[in-house]
Amino acid sequence: MAELSVVIPVFNEAEQIGATLSAVREALRACDDVNAAFVLVDDGSSDRTWDAISGLAANAADVRGIRLSRNFGKEAALCAGLDAARASDADACLVMDADLQHPPECIPRMVALWREGCDVVEGVKASRGRERLLYRWLARAFYGVIGRLSGFDFDDVSDYKLLDMKVVRAWGKMGESRTFFRGMTAWLGYRRAAVPFDVAERKTGRSGWSAFQLLRLAMDAISSFTSAPLHFVTILGLLLLAFAVPLGVQTLYNKLAGIAVDGFTTVILLLLLIGSTVMISLGIIGVYIARIFDEVKHRPRYLVQETTPARGQGD
Ligand code: UDP
Ligand code: MG
Repeated sequence: MAELSVVIPVFNEAEQIGATLSAVREALRACDDVNAAFVLVDDGSSDRTWDAISGLAANAADVRGIRLSRNFGKEAALCAGLDAARASDADACLVMDADLQHPPECIPRMVALWREGCDVVEGVKASRGRERLLYRWLARAFYGVIGRLSGFDFDDVSDYKLLDMKVVRAWGKMGESRTFFRGMTAWLGYRRAAVPFDVAERKTGRSGWSAFQLLRLAMDAISSFTSAPLHFVTILGLLLLAFAVPLGVQTLYNKLAGIAVDGFTTVILLLLLIGSTVMISLGIIGVYIARIFDEVKHRPRYLVQETTPARGQGD
């Protein structure tokens, strides 16, 4: 029997989490040689999610609930779940969303691939479900940019993954305090396989991400995965220098030849152009400094408020 730890970050899903758990159990029934245990991480929900999780844990010995001290965000909730999985005696770890947008029907296929020796089995979005067009474009642009910059392929990746425990342990060695799970697992390497899935409609509730949080995740992801924007600053400087040298020579020549005209338009344009370039460059450097600042503080990724009481198997 292989032990599988199913990690689910849960944020304001009181109505959904019970149904999700049953659906996952149902799907796992097809994998007869797997023993699953669930880690449900309540990411500081403001509804009755924790009551729901405690109830589920009280009724089943294979459910463990972890309640974070406030809403730390999905990434931190995932960390809490993976840390718990690492501390258990599981052989593999399945990570999925609580809202059933990651269809449990894929689980048997993922488990089979893991059994065949794949260390990272990733769910890949075959279709993105119903999303606003703007969001879809932004997501495409974002993954295109970060993929190009970092050299990893992020197209249609998701957080729906089955990781062998050795991968989870390797992940545990990555020390950044602000994490980007998809990127980190891509960086880890190992034998990989992909399972395409169609993103299902959300059954209840609504997406817990605000536009601002998504933007922050995008900035975090880019700044933690590549320093390419910093090099852009240098390249931009070199490009400007290439313009500056001939322009400077010409200006000097005109001055010396006594044919310098009042070129205010050029001066204003140059000032505007260089001013904004310098500001943007400072901003890019600032993003990285902020990131360094966040990392050197070395704060814990999450804090646990309480967990459901530990129970041995079979009591
Ligand atoms: N989630 C979380 N903390 C948050 C926001 C979301 O733990 O601050 C969880 C949520 O319960 C769900 C998963 O992360 O299990 C994905 O969230 P959501 O469905 O809101 O994101 P989307 O599907 O729109 O990417
Ligand atoms: Mg969702």
